Parts: sequence; structure tokens; C-alpha cells
Amino acid sequence: MDSQTALRKDIIATCQKMNAAGLNVGSAGNLSVRIKDGFLITPSGIPYDRMTPDQIVEMDLDGHYYGDFIPSSEWRFHYDILKARPDVEVVLHSHATHCAILACCHLDIPPIHYMIGVSGGTLVKCSGYAPFGTQELSVEALAALGSRNACLLGNHGVITVGQTLAGAFNVLEEVENLARIYIGTRLLGGGALLSEGQMDVVLQRFKTYGKQASEIDPAITERVEPPVHGGQHLH
Ligand SMILES: [Zn+2]
Repeated sequence: MDSQTALRKDIIATCQKMNAAGLNVGSAGNLSVRIKDGFLITPSGIPYDRMTPDQIVEMDLDGHYYGDFIPSSEWRFHYDILKARPDVEVVLHSHATHCAILACCHLDIPPIHYMIGVSGGTLVKCSGYAPFGTQELSVEALAALGSRNACLLGNHGVITVGQTLAGAFNVLEEVENLARIYIGTRLLGGGALLSEGQMDVVLQRFKTYGKQASEIDPAITERVEPPVHGGQHLH
């Protein structure tokens, strides 16, 4: 199996995992991954449980598609995000229910819980409405995403980005949970938002979160401290 077949399989597996986890419904949603001189993207209208690796569509960075299958109707925002954000390798879009509820109310997700830090900022911004599959929607998406890892699409859904399939998937999982938490706090009369100063500390700590000691820049003072190392083995 060549590496692109493996990648095509991983794309389908990620879409299936997204639906199985309740983070999307039916054949809504779409996924792209950067490759040399272009990107791979899920095809239009084929259910994930019947999608095969050969149906994943190749596109170049001039907006042409190759092969027998038409790319997702949302190829424009995948294309525009991958062009505008060289730090991004994967773009994931879904209609996750709680994200969509907030998007239908045109509400941003504020810093209601420290895990908002996984979105790469202190806010998951909601874009204005534009019809699906349009360039207008892509312009809205790019503006709402900015340099962060997630945004909501007005009356539509959510986009997350990452450097890997697992990374973009994890951001989607977290943002959907944040959306659920935020809706819950609003139903209880409103939660206590974290301040800018509190979020600064969170964002600093996220730079060392989930990393081994050797991977951490010693200049970062605000860090997640491990316990004291006691040697190689307890006994
Ligand atoms: Zn959509």
C-alpha cells in the first residue's frame, strides 16, 4: 500500500469516527489534508460508510480537481484555508449539534472553560450566514477562523484545523464539548467567564501541556510541573 492510499484510508476512518462519536450527522461534513502541491478532500455526496480510498479527490492549489469524483461542495473553504494558513495540514468541517445550536444563534463561544485554549485562542468566533458551497461562505469562514484552530459557521456548523488528522479531530471533540458546556451555563443563567489574565496563564500552560520534559522550551516559566522524579524504578 503506498503512502497516499494509507492517507486516503485514514481520511475515511476519521470521518467515520466523527459520525460514530456523534460529532456529525449523515454525509454532512467534509475533510481535507494537504499533500505536495495540493490537497486530498472527501468527495461530494458519498456516505462515509460506503466511501472508498479511490473516491477521495485530489485538488491542486489553483483550484482544479483530478479524477472521476467531484470534491465536497465545500471545497472552497478547504482550499482558501489551506492557502491562507501554511501552519495548517488538515481542515475538518461538521454539523456537530451543540456547535450548530450556537451557530444558529450567531453566538461565539467565550472563555467559559479553560479548555477553550485548545482552539488556539480565547474565543471560538461565529461567522455570519452565507449559503453552503459559496465563495461568500469561504470568506466568512476565513475571517471567523483568523489564526485560531476553530470557528463556527452561522446557521451551519463548525470548522476545526490541525497539523494532523488526530489533531483536527481532537479540536472538534473539545469544541463540541465547550459548546455543550456553554449552552448549559446559559440555561443556568450564565457562567463565570475567565478573564484575559487567567486565559493568558492557560495559553502559556498549554504550550507545555502533554509534552515530555525534553520537548519544553526552558524559557517558558508558566508550565505544567510534573512530580519529583524518583529514578528509573520504584523497586
Ligand atoms: Zn456543512
